[in-house]
Amino acid sequence: MIVVLKNGQEEKQINNLKKWINGLGLEIHMSEGKESCIMGLVGDTSKVDIDLIRSLDIVESVKRIQEPFKNANRKFHPEDTIIEVGGHKIGGNNFQYFAGPCSIESEAQIIAVAEAVKASGANFLRGGAFKPRTSPYAFQGMRADGLKLLSKAKKETGMPIVSEIMSGSHIDLFEDVDIIQIGARNMQNFELLKQVGRLKKPILLKRGLANTIEEWLMSAEYIMSEGNMEIILCERGIRTYEPYTRNTLDLSAIPILKEKTHLPVIVDPSHASGLSRLVAPLSLASVGAGADGLMIEVHNDPAHALCDGAQSLKPEQFDAVVKSVSVMLPLVNKKVD
Ligand code: PEP
Ligand code: MN
Repeated sequence: MIVVLKNGQEEKQINNLKKWINGLGLEIHMSEGKESCIMGLVGDTSKVDIDLIRSLDIVESVKRIQEPFKNANRKFHPEDTIIEVGGHKIGGNNFQYFAGPCSIESEAQIIAVAEAVKASGANFLRGGAFKPRTSPYAFQGMRADGLKLLSKAKKETGMPIVSEIMSGSHIDLFEDVDIIQIGARNMQNFELLKQVGRLKKPILLKRGLANTIEEWLMSAEYIMSEGNMEIILCERGIRTYEPYTRNTLDLSAIPILKEKTHLPVIVDPSHASGLSRLVAPLSLASVGAGADGLMIEVHNDPAHALCDGAQSLKPEQFDAVVKSVSVMLPLVNKKVD
């Protein structure tokens, strides 16, 4: 971290600042010129409150050189993290499909969709039981009963299951869920992040509606700082000024994340676009950009889905996406494990 001091500061004030910085366990390299005085802070600056330093009277500007995330940082963990769930690997040279309905609606629905997506090549079944809806009058999900049906589908098909948690008070209900999803709206629910950080199961962390990549990685850091290192990042589009799509898929986030972090990165083209006809092209683009997997909403009867029907694929459409993606996978040195 570089701190530039304003011109002509009293020695006493500079010494006070130095003492405080040293107290944080950091070394200081001073460079005193005629016009300005620059302090180079060396050490673990992740605990430094950059805004506090910036607000000091004697400080002109502050610049962070080192990223504020440590556990998630590829610099300190160069190899890709590979997460194994139910015998399937996520990350590295592995590619995975996470498919299923937006919401679990009935036993017949979730089992029919599970069997279909499994037959097409998906190793993971997704299904929402607690739904974060914009309107309190919209279908809120089947909640605990939905999770029971998801478990039933897991038993019938052998597929590991993924579902979104919205409150730490529901953790016990998620015992049979293999991967817990933190949705876009809760990406910065820091208490929830800390709670799932104490669990011994992988977390699928979606990007917030309008969050930067660094904020997203800091949310991963929250989970990791509690001991849970198994995180899958999921890009699901961000809010922009473009109304033709529900969100704007940030494809560049994929290669940026691959540089910055060792965690697996998957893409959800369903929420990113809100339109089923865009799921295939966005899936191919995501694979080309280096994604480790895709999360796709699939429904046996999208026209009558209780949630997100417009972006849901029919099983045969999902099958076609898997077929075209599988042509691309060898080109990016990936395989479905
Ligand atoms: C979902 O996956 O069902 C969901 C609600 O996604 P997001 O949090 O990305 O909106
Ligand atoms: Mn949905």
